[in-house]
Amino acid sequence: MDNCIFCKIAAGQIPATIVHEDEDLIAFNDIHPAAPVHMLIIPRKHFDTLSAVGAEHGELLGRMLALASRLAEKAGCAPVLQPDGKLTGGYKTLVNTGPDGGQEVYHLHMHVIGGPKPWR
Ligand code: 5GP
Ligand code: ZN
Repeated sequence: MDNCIFCKIAAGQIPATIVHEDEDLIAFNDIHPAAPVHMLIIPRKHFDTLSAVGAEHGELLGRMLALASRLAEKAGCAPVLQPDGKLTGGYKTLVNTGPDGGQEVYHLHMHVIGGPKPWR
């Protein structure tokens, strides 16, 4: 897609700190992190929004979520059950959709946000 910043990152035309790349998905650090860990997962294929994704792409969406879990683990922010029984750590996955959903970049992306609090 011409003029799409995330397509350009996927094509290597704009630099980004890439944390994962495969045939269908790319993940990179957000340029303005909202928390100690803030990554974005995108499909290489351009979809404007989550609402442009059909049921035929359910597997792709599932892989984005599974990758979020793996990357959070790698980044050290997966939930951990402590010996005292307390659960610590954790992260958010977020897909902003459309203007009222707070979407700013119109290439489908999933935020993975975590790390030691405080952050919002
Ligand atoms: P949205 O509000 O669309 O869900 O979030 C877009 C995210 O993309 C924002 O958190 C913003 O900081 C990030 N972002 C925008 N432009 C760039 C860029 O050129 N590189 C990187 N790495 N992140 C970007
Ligand atoms: Zn795009």
